[in-house]
Amino acid sequence: MPDRPPIDLRSDTVTKPTPDMRRAMANAEVGDDVFGDDPTVNRLQERVAELLGKESAIFVPSGSMANQASIRSQTHHGDEIICHQDSHIYHYEAGGPASLSGCSLRLLTGERGLFEADQVRAAIRPPDSHFPQTRLVVVENTHNRGGGSIWPVEQVRDVHAVAREHGLSMHLDGARLMNACVATGRRPTDYTRYFDSVSTCFSKGLGAPVGSAVAGSKELIRRVHRFRKMFGGAMRQAGIIAAGALYALEHHIDRLADDHANARRLASAIADMPGLSIDPASVETNILYFDVDESVGTAKALCDRLRADGVWVLPVAPQRIRAVTHLDVSASDIDRAISILSSMMKSTLATA
Ligand SMILES: *Cc1c(COP(=O)(O)O)cnc(C)c1O
Repeated sequence: MPDRPPIDLRSDTVTKPTPDMRRAMANAEVGDDVFGDDPTVNRLQERVAELLGKESAIFVPSGSMANQASIRSQTHHGDEIICHQDSHIYHYEAGGPASLSGCSLRLLTGERGLFEADQVRAAIRPPDSHFPQTRLVVVENTHNRGGGSIWPVEQVRDVHAVAREHGLSMHLDGARLMNACVATGRRPTDYTRYFDSVSTCFSKGLGAPVGSAVAGSKELIRRVHRFRKMFGGAMRQAGIIAAGALYALEHHIDRLADDHANARRLASAIADMPGLSIDPASVETNILYFDVDESVGTAKALCDRLRADGVWVLPVAPQRIRAVTHLDVSASDIDRAISILSSMMKSTLATA
Protein backbone atom coordinates (compact mmCIF):
# COMPACT_ATOMS: atom_id res chain seq x y z
CA MET A 1 0.00 0.00 0.00
CA PRO A 2 2.62 2.65 0.85
CA ASP A 3 3.33 3.54 -2.75
CA ARG A 4 2.02 6.96 -1.71
CA PRO A 5 4.13 9.13 0.58
CA PRO A 6 3.38 8.50 4.25
CA ILE A 7 1.08 10.79 6.19
CA ASP A 8 3.52 11.92 8.85
CA LEU A 9 1.62 13.00 11.96
CA ARG A 10 4.50 12.46 14.41
CA SER A 11 5.20 16.17 14.88
CA ASP A 12 4.82 19.57 13.24
CA THR A 13 8.63 19.67 13.07
CA VAL A 14 8.65 17.31 10.08
CA THR A 15 7.53 19.88 7.50
CA LYS A 16 9.77 20.54 4.52
CA PRO A 17 10.26 24.00 3.00
CA THR A 18 7.85 24.71 0.14
CA PRO A 19 9.23 25.57 -3.32
CA ASP A 20 8.50 29.28 -2.74
CA MET A 21 10.18 29.18 0.67
CA ARG A 22 13.21 27.48 -0.88
CA ARG A 23 13.36 30.20 -3.53
CA ALA A 24 13.28 32.90 -0.85
CA MET A 25 16.08 31.09 0.97
CA ALA A 26 18.20 30.62 -2.14
CA ASN A 27 17.87 34.31 -2.99
CA ALA A 28 18.51 35.62 0.53
CA GLU A 29 21.07 38.37 0.97
CA VAL A 30 23.58 37.22 3.56
CA GLY A 31 26.54 38.44 5.61
CA ASP A 32 28.46 37.34 8.69
CA ASP A 33 25.93 37.53 11.51
CA VAL A 34 28.62 37.23 14.19
CA PHE A 35 29.69 40.68 12.95
CA GLY A 36 26.00 41.69 12.84
CA ASP A 37 26.31 41.93 9.03
CA ASP A 38 23.56 39.63 7.82
CA PRO A 39 20.76 41.83 6.47
CA THR A 40 18.23 38.99 6.34
CA VAL A 41 18.87 37.97 9.96
CA ASN A 42 18.59 41.62 10.96
CA ARG A 43 15.30 41.95 9.11
CA LEU A 44 13.93 38.83 10.77
CA GLN A 45 14.95 40.06 14.22
CA GLU A 46 13.24 43.42 13.65
CA ARG A 47 10.12 41.69 12.36
CA VAL A 48 9.96 39.34 15.37
CA ALA A 49 10.49 42.19 17.85
CA GLU A 50 7.62 44.06 16.22
CA LEU A 51 5.33 41.01 16.06
CA LEU A 52 5.93 40.19 19.73
CA GLY A 53 5.84 43.81 20.90
CA LYS A 54 9.37 43.87 22.36
CA GLU A 55 12.34 46.24 21.93
CA SER A 56 14.60 43.62 20.47
CA ALA A 57 14.85 40.02 19.27
CA ILE A 58 17.57 37.51 18.42
CA PHE A 59 17.62 34.57 15.99
CA VAL A 60 18.84 31.26 17.49
CA PRO A 61 19.25 27.76 16.02
CA SER A 62 16.60 25.94 18.07
CA GLY A 63 13.72 26.33 20.49
CA SER A 64 15.74 24.62 23.20
CA MET A 65 18.51 27.18 22.82
CA ALA A 66 15.93 29.98 22.87
CA ASN A 67 14.58 28.72 26.18
CA GLN A 68 17.93 27.87 27.74
CA ALA A 69 19.63 31.13 26.80
CA SER A 70 16.58 32.99 28.15
CA ILE A 71 16.79 31.07 31.41
CA ARG A 72 20.53 31.60 31.73
CA SER A 73 20.11 35.32 31.08
CA GLN A 74 17.63 35.76 33.93
CA THR A 75 18.94 33.49 36.69
CA HIS A 76 21.99 32.76 38.83
CA HIS A 77 23.33 29.36 39.81
CA GLY A 78 21.38 28.06 42.81
CA ASP A 79 18.15 29.83 41.80
CA GLU A 80 14.84 28.06 41.40
CA ILE A 81 12.46 28.22 38.43
CA ILE A 82 8.73 27.62 38.74
CA CYS A 83 7.18 25.69 35.84
CA HIS A 84 4.60 23.02 35.11
CA GLN A 85 5.59 19.40 35.67
CA ASP A 86 4.77 18.62 32.03
CA SER A 87 6.79 21.48 30.59
CA HIS A 88 9.14 21.16 27.63
CA ILE A 89 12.04 22.77 29.54
CA TYR A 90 11.74 19.99 32.14
CA HIS A 91 11.24 16.93 29.91
CA TYR A 92 12.75 17.62 26.53
CA GLU A 93 15.77 19.89 26.87
CA ALA A 94 18.28 17.38 28.21
CA GLY A 95 18.39 18.81 31.72
CA GLY A 96 19.42 22.24 30.42
CA PRO A 97 18.25 24.33 33.40
CA ALA A 98 20.38 22.24 35.80
CA SER A 99 23.35 21.88 33.48
CA LEU A 100 23.57 25.26 31.76
CA SER A 101 22.12 27.55 34.43
CA GLY A 102 22.62 25.59 37.68
CA CYS A 103 18.93 26.04 38.53
CA SER A 104 16.47 23.71 40.20
CA LEU A 105 12.89 23.45 38.96
CA ARG A 106 9.86 23.75 41.21
CA LEU A 107 7.23 21.71 39.40
CA LEU A 108 3.54 22.62 39.53
CA THR A 109 0.61 20.36 38.74
CA GLY A 110 -2.51 21.33 36.82
CA GLU A 111 -4.78 20.14 34.04
CA ARG A 112 -3.40 20.31 30.50
CA GLY A 113 -0.15 22.07 31.37
CA LEU A 114 -1.80 25.07 33.01
CA PHE A 115 -1.43 26.32 36.59
CA GLU A 116 -3.01 29.01 38.75
CA ALA A 117 -1.59 32.18 40.28
CA ASP A 118 -2.25 30.79 43.78
CA GLN A 119 -0.04 27.78 43.06
CA VAL A 120 2.76 30.14 42.06
CA ARG A 121 2.29 32.15 45.23
CA ALA A 122 2.47 28.98 47.35
CA ALA A 123 5.63 27.78 45.56
CA ILE A 124 7.66 30.98 46.00
CA ARG A 125 10.49 30.50 48.52
CA PRO A 126 10.77 32.76 51.53
CA PRO A 127 13.90 34.94 51.70
CA ASP A 128 15.74 32.63 54.11
CA SER A 129 19.25 31.32 53.52
CA HIS A 130 18.05 27.70 53.73
CA PHE A 131 16.17 27.97 50.47
CA PRO A 132 17.01 28.37 46.81
CA GLN A 133 15.88 31.77 45.58
CA THR A 134 12.85 31.70 43.31
CA ARG A 135 13.75 33.80 40.28
CA LEU A 136 11.71 32.92 37.21
CA VAL A 137 8.29 31.60 36.19
CA VAL A 138 8.02 29.74 32.86
CA VAL A 139 4.71 29.43 31.03
CA GLU A 140 4.31 27.27 27.88
CA ASN A 141 1.66 28.36 25.35
CA THR A 142 0.38 26.36 23.60
CA HIS A 143 1.28 23.52 25.92
CA ASN A 144 2.83 20.56 24.13
CA ARG A 145 2.31 17.71 26.63
CA GLY A 146 -0.89 19.42 27.71
CA GLY A 147 -2.31 18.54 24.27
CA GLY A 148 -1.72 21.82 22.42
CA SER A 149 -3.71 23.56 25.14
CA ILE A 150 -4.12 27.33 25.23
CA TRP A 151 -3.58 29.55 28.26
CA PRO A 152 -6.44 32.00 28.83
CA VAL A 153 -4.97 35.52 28.77
CA GLU A 154 -6.60 36.27 32.16
CA GLN A 155 -4.80 33.33 33.76
CA VAL A 156 -1.45 34.56 32.43
CA ARG A 157 -2.28 38.05 33.75
CA ASP A 158 -2.96 36.64 37.24
CA VAL A 159 0.26 34.60 37.29
CA HIS A 160 2.14 37.71 36.18
CA ALA A 161 0.62 39.78 39.00
CA VAL A 162 1.95 37.33 41.61
CA ALA A 163 5.35 37.16 39.90
CA ARG A 164 5.65 40.96 39.84
CA GLU A 165 4.60 41.25 43.47
CA HIS A 166 7.55 38.98 44.37
CA GLY A 167 10.08 40.41 41.92
CA LEU A 168 10.16 37.30 39.71
CA SER A 169 10.84 37.35 35.97
CA MET A 170 8.50 35.68 33.49
CA HIS A 171 9.53 33.61 30.45
CA LEU A 172 7.10 32.43 27.77
CA ASP A 173 7.97 29.23 25.94
CA GLY A 174 5.99 30.27 22.89
CA ALA A 175 7.25 27.59 20.50
CA ARG A 176 3.62 27.43 19.31
CA LEU A 177 2.44 30.90 20.37
CA MET A 178 1.05 31.58 16.90
CA ASN A 179 -1.17 28.49 17.15
CA ALA A 180 -2.67 29.98 20.33
CA CYS A 181 -3.18 33.35 18.60
CA VAL A 182 -4.80 31.92 15.47
CA ALA A 183 -7.08 29.65 17.53
CA THR A 184 -8.26 32.46 19.85
CA GLY A 185 -8.04 35.51 17.59
CA ARG A 186 -5.76 37.11 20.19
CA ARG A 187 -2.80 39.26 19.16
CA PRO A 188 0.63 37.92 20.17
CA THR A 189 1.07 41.03 22.33
CA ASP A 190 -2.05 40.14 24.36
CA TYR A 191 0.17 37.38 25.78
CA THR A 192 3.70 38.72 25.43
CA ARG A 193 3.07 41.91 27.46
CA TYR A 194 3.17 39.75 30.58
CA PHE A 195 6.64 38.32 29.86
CA ASP A 196 10.20 39.60 30.13
CA SER A 197 11.39 37.06 27.57
CA VAL A 198 9.50 35.22 24.85
CA SER A 199 10.78 32.34 22.74
CA THR A 200 9.06 31.33 19.54
CA CYS A 201 9.77 28.70 16.93
CA PHE A 202 9.75 28.92 13.12
CA SER A 203 10.27 25.22 12.46
CA LYS A 204 7.09 23.89 14.10
CA GLY A 205 3.72 24.76 12.58
CA LEU A 206 5.15 27.72 10.68
CA GLY A 207 7.04 25.28 8.47
CA ALA A 208 10.53 26.80 8.24
CA PRO A 209 13.38 24.26 8.23
CA VAL A 210 15.43 25.77 11.09
CA GLY A 211 15.29 28.39 13.79
CA SER A 212 13.72 30.08 16.76
CA ALA A 213 13.93 33.52 18.31
CA VAL A 214 13.94 35.22 21.69
CA ALA A 215 12.35 38.64 22.15
CA GLY A 216 12.66 41.00 25.10
CA SER A 217 14.15 44.30 26.23
CA LYS A 218 17.38 45.51 24.58
CA GLU A 219 19.25 44.81 27.79
CA LEU A 220 17.93 41.26 28.05
CA ILE A 221 18.65 40.46 24.40
CA ARG A 222 22.24 41.70 24.87
CA ARG A 223 22.60 39.06 27.57
CA VAL A 224 20.96 36.36 25.42
CA HIS A 225 23.35 37.32 22.60
CA ARG A 226 26.31 36.56 24.85
CA PHE A 227 24.90 33.21 26.00
CA ARG A 228 23.98 32.25 22.44
CA LYS A 229 27.69 32.62 21.65
CA MET A 230 28.72 30.72 24.78
CA PHE A 231 26.30 27.86 23.98
CA GLY A 232 27.69 27.60 20.45
CA GLY A 233 24.71 29.07 18.65
CA ALA A 234 26.21 32.14 16.97
CA MET A 235 25.94 31.51 13.23
CA ARG A 236 27.60 33.09 10.21
CA GLN A 237 25.65 33.43 6.90
CA ALA A 238 22.45 32.55 8.75
CA GLY A 239 20.36 34.69 6.37
CA ILE A 240 19.82 31.52 4.31
CA ILE A 241 17.73 30.02 7.12
CA ALA A 242 16.41 33.34 8.45
CA ALA A 243 14.84 33.84 5.00
CA GLY A 244 12.83 30.65 5.55
CA ALA A 245 11.63 32.02 8.89
CA LEU A 246 10.71 35.40 7.36
CA TYR A 247 8.81 33.64 4.60
CA ALA A 248 6.97 31.56 7.20
CA LEU A 249 5.94 34.65 9.18
CA GLU A 250 4.60 36.23 6.02
CA HIS A 251 2.76 33.26 4.55
CA HIS A 252 2.18 30.53 7.10
CA ILE A 253 0.51 32.09 10.13
CA ASP A 254 -3.13 32.35 9.05
CA ARG A 255 -3.11 28.86 7.55
CA LEU A 256 -2.55 27.36 11.03
CA ALA A 257 -6.37 27.47 11.18
CA ASP A 258 -6.37 24.63 8.60
CA ASP A 259 -4.18 22.50 10.88
CA HIS A 260 -6.57 23.13 13.76
CA ALA A 261 -9.59 22.16 11.63
CA ASN A 262 -7.78 18.99 10.48
CA ALA A 263 -6.94 18.07 14.08
CA ARG A 264 -10.56 18.54 15.15
CA ARG A 265 -11.82 16.40 12.26
CA LEU A 266 -9.36 13.62 13.03
CA ALA A 267 -10.32 13.78 16.72
CA SER A 268 -14.04 13.54 16.09
CA ALA A 269 -13.52 10.56 13.78
CA ILE A 270 -11.34 8.84 16.39
CA ALA A 271 -13.98 9.49 19.04
CA ASP A 272 -16.37 7.32 17.00
CA MET A 273 -13.95 4.40 16.58
CA PRO A 274 -14.36 1.40 18.88
CA GLY A 275 -11.15 0.62 20.76
CA LEU A 276 -9.92 4.23 20.73
CA SER A 277 -10.91 7.15 22.91
CA ILE A 278 -10.48 10.88 22.86
CA ASP A 279 -12.47 13.87 24.07
CA PRO A 280 -12.77 15.99 20.90
CA ALA A 281 -13.25 19.08 23.08
CA SER A 282 -9.66 18.59 24.32
CA VAL A 283 -8.31 19.42 20.87
CA GLU A 284 -7.77 23.18 20.91
CA THR A 285 -5.02 23.51 18.28
CA ASN A 286 -2.93 21.07 16.21
CA ILE A 287 -1.97 18.39 18.78
CA LEU A 288 -4.12 15.44 19.77
CA TYR A 289 -3.59 12.63 22.22
CA PHE A 290 -5.81 9.54 22.12
CA ASP A 291 -5.99 6.36 24.17
CA VAL A 292 -5.86 2.79 22.93
CA ASP A 293 -7.99 0.20 24.70
CA GLU A 294 -5.96 -2.74 26.04
CA SER A 295 -8.14 -5.14 24.03
CA VAL A 296 -6.57 -3.61 20.90
CA GLY A 297 -2.98 -4.11 22.10
CA THR A 298 -0.35 -1.54 22.99
CA ALA A 299 0.00 1.93 21.52
CA LYS A 300 3.42 0.92 20.18
CA ALA A 301 2.01 -2.12 18.36
CA LEU A 302 -0.79 -0.06 16.83
CA CYS A 303 1.68 2.64 15.72
CA ASP A 304 3.87 -0.01 14.05
CA ARG A 305 0.90 -1.38 12.11
CA LEU A 306 -0.27 2.09 11.13
CA ARG A 307 3.22 2.92 9.93
CA ALA A 308 3.19 -0.12 7.66
CA ASP A 309 -0.02 1.29 6.14
CA GLY A 310 1.45 4.77 5.66
CA VAL A 311 0.20 6.65 8.75
CA TRP A 312 2.94 7.76 11.12
CA VAL A 313 1.99 8.63 14.71
CA LEU A 314 3.91 8.47 17.99
CA PRO A 315 3.33 6.19 20.98
CA VAL A 316 3.86 8.38 24.07
CA ALA A 317 2.73 5.99 26.84
CA PRO A 318 1.80 2.28 26.94
CA GLN A 319 -1.79 3.03 25.82
CA ARG A 320 -1.46 6.58 24.46
CA ILE A 321 -0.71 7.99 21.01
CA ARG A 322 0.07 11.51 19.82
CA ALA A 323 -0.80 12.94 16.41
CA VAL A 324 0.07 16.45 15.21
CA THR A 325 -1.29 18.21 12.14
CA HIS A 326 0.81 20.62 10.07
CA LEU A 327 1.60 22.27 6.74
CA ASP A 328 2.49 19.02 4.98
CA VAL A 329 -0.78 17.27 5.89
CA SER A 330 -3.79 18.21 3.76
CA ALA A 331 -7.49 17.74 4.48
CA SER A 332 -7.52 14.80 2.05
CA ASP A 333 -4.52 13.26 3.86
CA ILE A 334 -6.63 13.44 7.02
CA ASP A 335 -9.50 11.68 5.23
CA ARG A 336 -7.10 8.96 4.14
CA ALA A 337 -5.63 8.64 7.66
CA ILE A 338 -9.14 8.34 9.08
CA SER A 339 -10.08 5.59 6.65
CA ILE A 340 -6.83 3.65 7.25
CA LEU A 341 -7.22 3.93 11.03
CA SER A 342 -10.89 3.06 10.92
CA SER A 343 -10.45 -0.11 8.84
CA MET A 344 -7.54 -1.15 11.03
CA MET A 345 -9.68 -0.81 14.16
CA LYS A 346 -12.53 -2.77 12.56
CA SER A 347 -10.27 -5.66 11.54
CA THR A 348 -8.47 -5.63 14.89
CA LEU A 349 -11.64 -5.84 16.93
CA ALA A 350 -13.17 -8.44 14.57
CA THR A 351 -10.22 -10.79 15.27
CA ALA A 352 -9.88 -9.93 18.99
C1 LIG B 1 9.58 21.96 20.14
C2 LIG B 1 9.47 22.76 21.34
C3 LIG B 1 10.56 23.53 21.80
C4 LIG B 1 11.89 23.59 21.09
O1 LIG B 1 12.40 22.43 20.65
P1 LIG B 1 13.65 22.33 19.65
O2 LIG B 1 13.52 20.95 19.17
O3 LIG B 1 14.85 22.60 20.44
O4 LIG B 1 13.46 23.35 18.57
C5 LIG B 1 10.37 24.28 22.93
N1 LIG B 1 9.20 24.29 23.58
C6 LIG B 1 8.15 23.59 23.17
C7 LIG B 1 6.86 23.68 23.92
C8 LIG B 1 8.23 22.78 22.05
O5 LIG B 1 7.19 22.06 21.65
